[in-house]
Amino acid sequence: MARHEDTYDDRYGTEFLQRPAPDDRLPRQGMPAVDAMRLLGEELVLDGIPMRNLATFVTTWMEPEAQRVIAENLHRNYIDHAEYPQTALIEQRCIRMLADLFHAPGPTTGTRTQGSSEAIMLGALSLKWKWRQRREAARQSTDRPNLVFGGDVHVVWEKFCRYFDVEPRIIPLRPDRLTIGPDDVEPHVDENTIGVAAVLGTTFTGHADDIAGINDLLVRLRDERGLDVPLHVDGASGGFVWPFLYPDTKWDFRLEQVRSINVSGHKYGLVYPGIGWLVFRTTDDLAEDLVFYENYLGKRDATFTLNFSTNASMVLAQYYNLVRYGHAGYQAIMRTMQANAAELAERIVAAGDFELVGEPGAEQLPLVAFRLAGEHAYDEFDVAGQLAGEHGWMLPAYSLPPNAQDVTVLRALVKQTLSRSLADTLADDLAHACTTLDAKGGLHERERRRVKSGTGY
Ligand SMILES: *Cc1c(COP(=O)(O)O)cnc(C)c1O
Repeated sequence: MARHEDTYDDRYGTEFLQRPAPDDRLPRQGMPAVDAMRLLGEELVLDGIPMRNLATFVTTWMEPEAQRVIAENLHRNYIDHAEYPQTALIEQRCIRMLADLFHAPGPTTGTRTQGSSEAIMLGALSLKWKWRQRREAARQSTDRPNLVFGGDVHVVWEKFCRYFDVEPRIIPLRPDRLTIGPDDVEPHVDENTIGVAAVLGTTFTGHADDIAGINDLLVRLRDERGLDVPLHVDGASGGFVWPFLYPDTKWDFRLEQVRSINVSGHKYGLVYPGIGWLVFRTTDDLAEDLVFYENYLGKRDATFTLNFSTNASMVLAQYYNLVRYGHAGYQAIMRTMQANAAELAERIVAAGDFELVGEPGAEQLPLVAFRLAGEHAYDEFDVAGQLAGEHGWMLPAYSLPPNAQDVTVLRALVKQTLSRSLADTLADDLAHACTTLDAKGGLHERERRRVKSGTGY
Protein backbone atom coordinates (compact mmCIF):
# COMPACT_ATOMS: atom_id res chain seq x y z
CA MET A 1 0.00 0.00 0.00
CA ALA A 2 1.34 3.44 -0.93
CA ARG A 3 2.40 5.71 1.90
CA HIS A 4 -0.03 8.48 1.14
CA GLU A 5 -2.89 5.98 1.37
CA ASP A 6 -1.69 4.92 4.82
CA THR A 7 -1.89 8.50 5.89
CA TYR A 8 -5.33 8.91 4.46
CA ASP A 9 -6.63 5.74 6.15
CA ASP A 10 -4.94 6.39 9.46
CA ARG A 11 -5.81 10.01 9.82
CA TYR A 12 -8.79 10.94 7.74
CA GLY A 13 -10.89 7.93 6.96
CA THR A 14 -11.03 4.18 6.91
CA GLU A 15 -9.83 1.60 4.45
CA PHE A 16 -13.31 0.48 3.52
CA LEU A 17 -14.20 3.95 2.24
CA GLN A 18 -11.93 3.10 -0.67
CA ARG A 19 -12.40 -0.66 -0.94
CA PRO A 20 -15.31 -3.09 -0.85
CA ALA A 21 -16.08 -4.66 2.53
CA PRO A 22 -14.54 -8.12 3.07
CA ASP A 23 -17.13 -10.38 1.57
CA ASP A 24 -16.04 -13.88 0.66
CA ARG A 25 -12.99 -14.88 2.65
CA LEU A 26 -11.37 -14.13 5.95
CA PRO A 27 -9.20 -11.05 5.35
CA ARG A 28 -5.47 -11.76 5.64
CA GLN A 29 -5.01 -8.72 7.83
CA GLY A 30 -7.58 -7.28 10.13
CA MET A 31 -8.48 -3.62 10.48
CA PRO A 32 -8.44 -1.18 13.40
CA ALA A 33 -11.29 -1.59 15.87
CA VAL A 34 -12.80 1.78 15.00
CA ASP A 35 -12.82 0.86 11.32
CA ALA A 36 -14.60 -2.44 11.98
CA MET A 37 -17.18 -0.61 14.09
CA ARG A 38 -17.73 2.01 11.40
CA LEU A 39 -17.92 -0.59 8.67
CA LEU A 40 -20.75 -2.33 10.51
CA GLY A 41 -22.46 0.89 11.47
CA GLU A 42 -22.54 2.14 7.91
CA GLU A 43 -23.80 -1.17 6.53
CA LEU A 44 -26.60 -1.39 9.08
CA VAL A 45 -27.97 1.97 8.00
CA LEU A 46 -29.37 0.03 5.06
CA ASP A 47 -31.51 -2.13 7.37
CA GLY A 48 -35.00 -1.03 8.27
CA ILE A 49 -35.38 1.06 11.39
CA PRO A 50 -36.63 -1.36 14.07
CA MET A 51 -38.99 1.27 15.56
CA ARG A 52 -40.82 1.53 12.23
CA ASN A 53 -41.11 -2.23 11.97
CA LEU A 54 -44.80 -2.89 12.52
CA ALA A 55 -44.37 -6.37 11.03
CA THR A 56 -42.68 -7.98 13.99
CA PHE A 57 -44.10 -9.09 17.32
CA VAL A 58 -40.61 -8.92 18.74
CA THR A 59 -39.61 -6.20 21.20
CA THR A 60 -37.78 -3.24 19.69
CA TRP A 61 -37.49 -1.02 22.75
CA MET A 62 -36.45 -1.54 26.37
CA GLU A 63 -35.77 0.87 29.20
CA PRO A 64 -32.21 2.23 29.55
CA GLU A 65 -31.82 0.42 32.89
CA ALA A 66 -32.76 -2.88 31.23
CA GLN A 67 -30.35 -2.16 28.41
CA ARG A 68 -27.66 -1.71 31.01
CA VAL A 69 -28.44 -5.06 32.64
CA ILE A 70 -28.24 -6.65 29.20
CA ALA A 71 -24.98 -4.98 28.20
CA GLU A 72 -23.33 -5.83 31.50
CA ASN A 73 -24.17 -9.53 31.35
CA LEU A 74 -23.54 -10.55 27.78
CA HIS A 75 -20.36 -12.34 28.86
CA ARG A 76 -22.19 -14.49 31.40
CA ASN A 77 -22.99 -17.92 29.97
CA TYR A 78 -26.49 -18.78 31.10
CA ILE A 79 -25.95 -22.55 30.98
CA ASP A 80 -22.99 -22.50 33.39
CA HIS A 81 -25.11 -23.16 36.42
CA ALA A 82 -22.03 -24.14 38.42
CA GLU A 83 -20.33 -20.80 37.93
CA TYR A 84 -23.45 -18.69 37.88
CA PRO A 85 -25.85 -20.28 40.33
CA GLN A 86 -27.65 -17.03 41.02
CA THR A 87 -28.57 -16.70 37.34
CA ALA A 88 -30.02 -20.21 37.50
CA LEU A 89 -32.07 -19.22 40.55
CA ILE A 90 -33.35 -16.13 38.76
CA GLU A 91 -34.42 -18.29 35.81
CA GLN A 92 -36.37 -20.49 38.23
CA ARG A 93 -38.06 -17.44 39.73
CA CYS A 94 -39.24 -16.43 36.26
CA ILE A 95 -40.63 -19.91 35.63
CA ARG A 96 -42.48 -19.91 38.96
CA MET A 97 -43.96 -16.47 38.24
CA LEU A 98 -45.16 -17.57 34.82
CA ALA A 99 -46.58 -20.84 36.16
CA ASP A 100 -48.49 -18.80 38.73
CA LEU A 101 -49.65 -16.29 36.10
CA PHE A 102 -50.94 -19.23 34.04
CA HIS A 103 -52.70 -20.76 37.07
CA ALA A 104 -50.65 -23.93 37.46
CA PRO A 105 -52.34 -26.01 40.16
CA GLY A 106 -49.16 -26.47 42.22
CA PRO A 107 -45.37 -26.41 42.11
CA THR A 108 -44.27 -27.35 38.63
CA THR A 109 -41.44 -27.15 36.16
CA GLY A 110 -40.45 -25.46 32.94
CA THR A 111 -37.50 -24.15 31.06
CA ARG A 112 -35.99 -21.05 29.53
CA THR A 113 -35.51 -21.27 25.77
CA GLN A 114 -34.19 -19.20 22.90
CA GLY A 115 -37.75 -18.35 21.89
CA SER A 116 -41.12 -19.99 21.44
CA SER A 117 -39.79 -22.13 18.61
CA GLU A 118 -37.39 -23.98 20.91
CA ALA A 119 -40.09 -24.08 23.60
CA ILE A 120 -42.55 -25.63 21.15
CA MET A 121 -40.02 -28.22 19.95
CA LEU A 122 -39.40 -29.24 23.56
CA GLY A 123 -43.07 -29.16 24.57
CA ALA A 124 -44.10 -31.21 21.55
CA LEU A 125 -41.24 -33.68 22.14
CA SER A 126 -42.60 -34.17 25.61
CA LEU A 127 -46.06 -34.83 24.14
CA LYS A 128 -44.52 -37.43 21.83
CA TRP A 129 -42.59 -39.14 24.62
CA LYS A 130 -45.61 -39.19 26.95
CA TRP A 131 -47.81 -40.63 24.20
CA ARG A 132 -45.26 -43.35 23.52
CA GLN A 133 -45.13 -44.25 27.20
CA ARG A 134 -48.91 -44.57 27.33
CA ARG A 135 -48.95 -46.70 24.20
CA GLU A 136 -46.12 -48.94 25.37
CA ALA A 137 -47.77 -49.45 28.73
CA ALA A 138 -50.89 -50.61 26.89
CA ARG A 139 -48.78 -52.78 24.52
CA GLN A 140 -49.92 -50.83 21.50
CA SER A 141 -48.04 -49.67 18.40
CA THR A 142 -45.97 -46.51 18.57
CA ASP A 143 -45.02 -45.99 14.95
CA ARG A 144 -47.65 -43.52 13.71
CA PRO A 145 -47.83 -40.48 15.99
CA ASN A 146 -49.85 -37.48 14.81
CA LEU A 147 -50.34 -33.94 16.04
CA VAL A 148 -53.51 -31.91 15.43
CA PHE A 149 -53.48 -28.14 14.87
CA GLY A 150 -55.08 -25.46 12.73
CA GLY A 151 -53.76 -23.75 9.63
CA ASP A 152 -53.53 -20.63 11.78
CA VAL A 153 -50.39 -21.84 13.62
CA HIS A 154 -46.88 -20.50 13.21
CA VAL A 155 -44.55 -22.40 10.86
CA VAL A 156 -42.71 -23.93 13.82
CA TRP A 157 -45.45 -26.55 14.32
CA GLU A 158 -44.97 -28.03 10.88
CA LYS A 159 -41.25 -27.77 11.39
CA PHE A 160 -41.54 -29.85 14.55
CA CYS A 161 -43.53 -32.50 12.71
CA ARG A 162 -40.96 -32.80 9.94
CA TYR A 163 -37.89 -32.66 12.19
CA PHE A 164 -39.25 -35.15 14.69
CA ASP A 165 -41.24 -37.46 12.45
CA VAL A 166 -44.80 -36.82 13.48
CA GLU A 167 -47.73 -36.69 11.08
CA PRO A 168 -49.18 -33.17 10.98
CA ARG A 169 -52.98 -33.10 10.88
CA ILE A 170 -53.65 -29.55 9.82
CA ILE A 171 -57.18 -28.20 9.98
CA PRO A 172 -57.73 -25.87 7.03
CA LEU A 173 -59.06 -22.38 7.66
CA ARG A 174 -61.98 -20.89 5.80
CA PRO A 175 -62.18 -17.39 4.34
CA ASP A 176 -64.81 -16.62 6.97
CA ARG A 177 -63.20 -18.59 9.83
CA LEU A 178 -59.58 -17.82 10.70
CA THR A 179 -59.21 -19.82 13.93
CA ILE A 180 -60.25 -23.33 14.97
CA GLY A 181 -62.65 -24.85 17.49
CA PRO A 182 -63.73 -28.24 18.84
CA ASP A 183 -65.84 -29.26 15.84
CA ASP A 184 -62.84 -28.79 13.56
CA VAL A 185 -60.59 -30.79 15.87
CA GLU A 186 -62.79 -33.78 16.68
CA PRO A 187 -62.59 -35.68 13.36
CA HIS A 188 -58.78 -35.59 13.43
CA VAL A 189 -58.18 -37.01 16.89
CA ASP A 190 -57.49 -40.70 17.39
CA GLU A 191 -55.42 -43.02 19.61
CA ASN A 192 -52.22 -41.93 17.83
CA THR A 193 -52.73 -38.25 18.54
CA ILE A 194 -49.86 -37.08 20.75
CA GLY A 195 -51.65 -33.80 21.41
CA VAL A 196 -53.62 -30.87 20.07
CA ALA A 197 -51.98 -27.46 19.70
CA ALA A 198 -54.13 -24.36 20.03
CA VAL A 199 -53.01 -20.78 19.51
CA LEU A 200 -53.58 -17.86 21.83
CA GLY A 201 -53.08 -14.87 19.54
CA THR A 202 -52.40 -16.05 16.00
CA THR A 203 -49.58 -14.68 13.92
CA PHE A 204 -52.02 -13.85 11.14
CA THR A 205 -54.82 -11.90 12.81
CA GLY A 206 -54.06 -11.96 16.54
CA HIS A 207 -57.18 -13.89 17.52
CA ALA A 208 -57.37 -17.02 19.67
CA ASP A 209 -58.54 -20.53 18.87
CA ASP A 210 -61.53 -21.71 20.92
CA ILE A 211 -59.23 -23.16 23.57
CA ALA A 212 -61.95 -23.72 26.19
CA GLY A 213 -64.11 -25.48 23.59
CA ILE A 214 -61.22 -27.71 22.50
CA ASN A 215 -60.50 -28.49 26.16
CA ASP A 216 -64.11 -29.56 26.71
CA LEU A 217 -63.94 -31.78 23.65
CA LEU A 218 -60.78 -33.46 24.93
CA VAL A 219 -62.31 -33.97 28.36
CA ARG A 220 -65.30 -35.63 26.69
CA LEU A 221 -63.07 -37.85 24.50
CA ARG A 222 -61.21 -38.91 27.62
CA ASP A 223 -64.38 -39.73 29.53
CA GLU A 224 -66.24 -41.37 26.65
CA ARG A 225 -63.49 -43.04 24.63
CA GLY A 226 -60.62 -43.30 27.09
CA LEU A 227 -58.38 -41.14 24.88
CA ASP A 228 -56.25 -38.90 27.06
CA VAL A 229 -55.13 -36.27 24.54
CA PRO A 230 -53.20 -33.36 26.03
CA LEU A 231 -53.64 -29.76 24.87
CA HIS A 232 -50.62 -27.51 24.37
CA VAL A 233 -51.29 -23.78 24.17
CA ASP A 234 -49.03 -21.75 21.90
CA GLY A 235 -49.09 -18.48 23.79
CA ALA A 236 -46.02 -17.09 21.99
CA SER A 237 -47.69 -13.70 21.81
CA GLY A 238 -50.89 -14.15 23.81
CA GLY A 239 -49.28 -15.57 26.95
CA PHE A 240 -48.21 -12.11 28.07
CA VAL A 241 -51.38 -10.38 26.80
CA TRP A 242 -54.42 -12.39 27.86
CA PRO A 243 -53.56 -12.51 31.61
CA PHE A 244 -53.59 -8.70 31.65
CA LEU A 245 -56.30 -7.77 29.13
CA TYR A 246 -58.67 -10.71 29.52
CA PRO A 247 -58.01 -12.15 32.99
CA ASP A 248 -61.38 -13.90 33.17
CA THR A 249 -60.98 -15.82 29.94
CA LYS A 250 -59.91 -19.39 30.66
CA TRP A 251 -57.22 -20.57 28.24
CA ASP A 252 -54.48 -21.73 30.61
CA PHE A 253 -54.01 -24.37 33.34
CA ARG A 254 -57.49 -23.53 34.63
CA LEU A 255 -58.53 -25.90 31.81
CA GLU A 256 -57.71 -29.46 32.79
CA GLN A 257 -56.40 -30.81 29.47
CA VAL A 258 -53.96 -27.90 29.08
CA ARG A 259 -50.66 -29.59 29.97
CA SER A 260 -48.05 -27.20 28.64
CA ILE A 261 -47.79 -23.58 27.50
CA ASN A 262 -45.08 -21.69 25.63
CA VAL A 263 -44.61 -17.94 25.61
CA SER A 264 -42.04 -15.68 23.96
CA GLY A 265 -40.38 -13.38 26.47
CA HIS A 266 -39.19 -11.35 23.49
CA LYS A 267 -42.69 -10.59 22.25
CA TYR A 268 -45.17 -9.15 24.76
CA GLY A 269 -42.83 -10.20 27.58
CA LEU A 270 -41.13 -6.97 26.43
CA VAL A 271 -37.55 -8.31 26.29
CA TYR A 272 -35.16 -8.07 23.32
CA PRO A 273 -34.72 -11.28 21.29
CA GLY A 274 -34.06 -14.19 22.20
CA ILE A 275 -35.92 -15.51 25.14
CA GLY A 276 -38.84 -17.89 25.41
CA TRP A 277 -40.43 -20.01 28.10
CA LEU A 278 -42.03 -23.42 28.36
CA VAL A 279 -44.14 -24.17 31.41
CA PHE A 280 -45.75 -27.51 32.32
CA ARG A 281 -48.96 -27.99 34.24
CA THR A 282 -47.23 -30.39 36.66
CA THR A 283 -43.80 -31.96 36.85
CA ASP A 284 -45.44 -35.19 35.59
CA ASP A 285 -46.22 -33.58 32.24
CA LEU A 286 -42.55 -33.35 31.38
CA ALA A 287 -41.24 -36.68 30.06
CA GLU A 288 -38.39 -37.71 32.38
CA ASP A 289 -36.34 -39.17 29.52
CA LEU A 290 -35.88 -35.77 27.97
CA VAL A 291 -34.24 -34.30 31.03
CA PHE A 292 -30.51 -34.55 31.52
CA TYR A 293 -29.20 -34.24 35.01
CA GLU A 294 -26.05 -32.73 36.36
CA ASN A 295 -25.00 -32.09 39.89
CA TYR A 296 -22.85 -29.02 39.51
CA LEU A 297 -24.80 -27.11 42.09
CA GLY A 298 -24.35 -29.70 44.78
CA LYS A 299 -27.94 -30.72 44.25
CA ARG A 300 -29.40 -32.41 41.22
CA ASP A 301 -29.99 -29.89 38.46
CA ALA A 302 -31.99 -30.64 35.34
CA THR A 303 -31.38 -29.37 31.83
CA PHE A 304 -34.01 -29.67 29.17
CA THR A 305 -32.89 -27.63 26.15
CA LEU A 306 -31.99 -27.94 22.49
CA ASN A 307 -29.43 -25.15 22.70
CA PHE A 308 -26.74 -25.05 25.33
CA SER A 309 -24.54 -21.96 25.69
CA THR A 310 -26.02 -18.51 25.35
CA ASN A 311 -25.74 -15.23 27.19
CA ALA A 312 -27.58 -14.79 30.48
CA SER A 313 -28.67 -11.26 29.60
CA MET A 314 -32.17 -12.01 28.35
CA VAL A 315 -33.10 -14.17 31.36
CA LEU A 316 -31.93 -11.36 33.60
CA ALA A 317 -33.78 -8.81 31.45
CA GLN A 318 -36.95 -10.88 31.73
CA TYR A 319 -36.62 -10.90 35.49
CA TYR A 320 -35.91 -7.17 35.37
CA ASN A 321 -39.20 -6.58 33.53
CA LEU A 322 -41.19 -8.88 35.79
CA VAL A 323 -40.07 -7.12 38.95
CA ARG A 324 -39.90 -3.64 37.42
CA TYR A 325 -43.42 -3.70 35.97
CA GLY A 326 -45.20 -6.23 38.14
CA HIS A 327 -48.77 -7.19 37.33
CA ALA A 328 -49.98 -3.60 37.36
CA GLY A 329 -47.23 -2.43 35.04
CA TYR A 330 -47.75 -5.14 32.46
CA GLN A 331 -51.47 -4.48 32.61
CA ALA A 332 -51.01 -0.74 32.09
CA ILE A 333 -48.68 -1.32 29.14
CA MET A 334 -50.99 -3.88 27.50
CA ARG A 335 -53.99 -1.59 27.98
CA THR A 336 -52.11 1.30 26.42
CA MET A 337 -51.19 -0.82 23.39
CA GLN A 338 -54.77 -2.02 23.16
CA ALA A 339 -56.14 1.53 23.30
CA ASN A 340 -53.71 2.68 20.62
CA ALA A 341 -54.62 -0.32 18.46
CA ALA A 342 -58.31 0.54 18.86
CA GLU A 343 -57.64 4.16 17.90
CA LEU A 344 -55.61 3.09 14.89
CA ALA A 345 -58.31 0.61 13.81
CA GLU A 346 -60.99 3.27 14.12
CA ARG A 347 -59.02 5.79 12.08
CA ILE A 348 -58.13 3.25 9.39
CA VAL A 349 -61.76 2.23 8.97
CA ALA A 350 -63.02 5.83 9.11
CA ALA A 351 -60.79 6.80 6.16
CA GLY A 352 -62.97 4.54 4.04
CA ASP A 353 -60.52 2.38 2.08
CA PHE A 354 -60.22 -0.52 4.52
CA GLU A 355 -62.17 -2.95 6.66
CA LEU A 356 -60.98 -4.95 9.67
CA VAL A 357 -60.33 -8.69 9.39
CA GLY A 358 -61.94 -11.06 11.90
CA GLU A 359 -64.91 -11.04 14.18
CA PRO A 360 -65.64 -7.53 15.50
CA GLY A 361 -65.03 -7.26 19.22
CA ALA A 362 -63.28 -10.64 19.52
CA GLU A 363 -60.38 -10.89 21.98
CA GLN A 364 -57.21 -10.05 20.12
CA LEU A 365 -53.55 -9.11 20.43
CA PRO A 366 -52.83 -5.37 20.26
CA LEU A 367 -52.65 -5.15 16.49
CA VAL A 368 -54.78 -4.08 13.57
CA ALA A 369 -55.40 -6.63 10.79
CA PHE A 370 -57.20 -5.07 7.86
CA ARG A 371 -57.74 -5.29 4.13
CA LEU A 372 -59.03 -3.18 1.27
CA ALA A 373 -62.80 -2.79 1.14
CA GLY A 374 -64.59 -2.47 -2.17
CA GLU A 375 -63.05 -2.06 -5.61
CA HIS A 376 -59.55 -0.67 -6.03
CA ALA A 377 -57.07 -0.48 -8.88
CA TYR A 378 -54.38 -1.78 -6.51
CA ASP A 379 -54.05 -4.46 -3.85
CA GLU A 380 -52.76 -4.79 -0.30
CA PHE A 381 -49.22 -5.50 -1.51
CA ASP A 382 -49.30 -2.19 -3.36
CA VAL A 383 -50.37 -0.42 -0.19
CA ALA A 384 -47.52 -2.01 1.78
CA GLY A 385 -45.03 -1.02 -0.91
CA GLN A 386 -46.35 2.53 -1.18
CA LEU A 387 -46.33 3.00 2.58
CA ALA A 388 -42.75 1.76 2.79
CA GLY A 389 -41.61 3.91 -0.11
CA GLU A 390 -43.38 7.09 0.94
CA HIS A 391 -43.08 6.89 4.70
CA GLY A 392 -40.64 4.13 5.66
CA TRP A 393 -43.20 2.08 7.59
CA MET A 394 -42.66 -1.66 7.51
CA LEU A 395 -46.20 -2.98 7.53
CA PRO A 396 -46.55 -6.34 5.82
CA ALA A 397 -49.22 -7.57 3.44
CA TYR A 398 -49.62 -11.34 3.21
CA SER A 399 -52.13 -13.94 2.14
CA LEU A 400 -53.71 -16.16 4.79
CA PRO A 401 -53.06 -19.93 5.02
CA PRO A 402 -55.23 -22.48 3.15
CA ASN A 403 -58.19 -22.46 2.60
CA ALA A 404 -58.31 -18.73 3.25
CA GLN A 405 -55.44 -18.04 0.84
CA ASP A 406 -57.55 -15.64 -1.22
CA VAL A 407 -57.76 -13.28 1.72
CA THR A 408 -54.91 -10.77 1.77
CA VAL A 409 -54.27 -8.91 4.97
CA LEU A 410 -52.28 -5.91 6.08
CA ARG A 411 -51.18 -6.04 9.70
CA ALA A 412 -49.84 -3.37 12.02
CA LEU A 413 -48.46 -4.45 15.37
CA VAL A 414 -49.08 -1.85 18.04
CA LYS A 415 -46.20 -1.99 20.46
CA GLN A 416 -44.80 0.34 23.09
CA THR A 417 -43.00 2.26 20.37
CA LEU A 418 -46.22 3.22 18.57
CA SER A 419 -47.47 6.14 20.63
CA ARG A 420 -50.89 7.69 20.10
CA SER A 421 -49.48 10.41 17.89
CA LEU A 422 -47.49 7.92 15.81
CA ALA A 423 -50.62 5.80 15.44
CA ASP A 424 -52.43 8.89 14.13
CA THR A 425 -49.56 9.63 11.78
CA LEU A 426 -49.64 6.05 10.50
CA ALA A 427 -53.39 6.30 9.82
CA ASP A 428 -52.80 9.53 7.89
CA ASP A 429 -49.91 7.97 5.98
CA LEU A 430 -52.07 4.98 5.04
CA ALA A 431 -54.78 7.28 3.70
CA HIS A 432 -52.14 9.23 1.81
CA ALA A 433 -50.69 6.05 0.30
CA CYS A 434 -54.17 5.15 -0.96
CA THR A 435 -54.61 8.61 -2.48
CA THR A 436 -51.28 8.24 -4.29
CA LEU A 437 -52.22 4.77 -5.50
CA ASP A 438 -55.62 6.03 -6.67
CA ALA A 439 -53.78 8.56 -8.81
CA LYS A 440 -51.04 6.35 -10.19
CA GLY A 441 -52.36 2.78 -9.98
CA GLY A 442 -50.63 -0.26 -8.50
CA LEU A 443 -46.94 -1.13 -8.46
CA HIS A 444 -45.01 -2.86 -11.21
CA GLU A 445 -44.95 -6.63 -11.03
CA ARG A 446 -41.25 -6.63 -10.13
CA GLU A 447 -41.82 -4.28 -7.21
CA ARG A 448 -44.80 -6.32 -6.11
CA ARG A 449 -42.64 -9.44 -5.94
CA ARG A 450 -40.07 -7.62 -3.84
CA VAL A 451 -42.71 -6.47 -1.39
CA LYS A 452 -44.24 -9.94 -1.25
CA SER A 453 -41.00 -11.72 -0.58
CA GLY A 454 -40.06 -9.16 2.04
CA THR A 455 -42.91 -9.94 4.40
CA GLY A 456 -42.07 -11.82 7.49
CA TYR A 457 -42.99 -12.29 11.07
C1 LIG B 1 -43.67 -15.89 17.05
C2 LIG B 1 -44.46 -17.10 17.20
C3 LIG B 1 -43.85 -18.36 17.31
C4 LIG B 1 -42.34 -18.52 17.22
O1 LIG B 1 -41.78 -17.88 18.31
P1 LIG B 1 -40.25 -17.40 18.41
O2 LIG B 1 -40.21 -16.84 19.79
O3 LIG B 1 -40.05 -16.37 17.35
O4 LIG B 1 -39.39 -18.60 18.22
C5 LIG B 1 -44.66 -19.46 17.51
N1 LIG B 1 -45.99 -19.34 17.60
C6 LIG B 1 -46.63 -18.15 17.48
C7 LIG B 1 -48.11 -18.09 17.61
C8 LIG B 1 -45.89 -16.99 17.28
O5 LIG B 1 -46.51 -15.81 17.18
